[in-house]
Amino acid sequence: MTILDCSAISCTYNKDRLCAKGDILVTGSTAEKPVETQCSSFIGAGRDCYCNSFSSGKEKISVKCEAINCVFNENRTCSAEHIGIAGKQAHSSSETECASFQKR
Ligand code: SF4
Repeated sequence: MTILDCSAISCTYNKDRLCAKGDILVTGSTAEKPVETQCSSFIGAGRDCYCNSFSSGKEKISVKCEAINCVFNENRTCSAEHIGIAGKQAHSSSETECASFQKR
């Protein structure tokens, strides 16, 4: 489980920079740098999600990741203790990225 700090505050799941979803999927199977990754679990505010207003952010979540060129990727799961998802101005998942990506 990974500690997630998420700056995509317009995501429905974002609760005080924590994620209420419980697990996320980062995509970017050919990524060579952070901007080529994205959080595919992002849902723009106002869209339906499987959480409710009582859901709270979880500090540690499961991070599945397709960015196999990242040093933290182990069998398509993130092994980093702490990651940051960036996307302060994001309106869609393509405007997010895993800021913690490090090329092998
Ligand atoms: S740190 Fe690397 S392995 Fe972990 S989610 Fe980000 S890109 Fe994927």
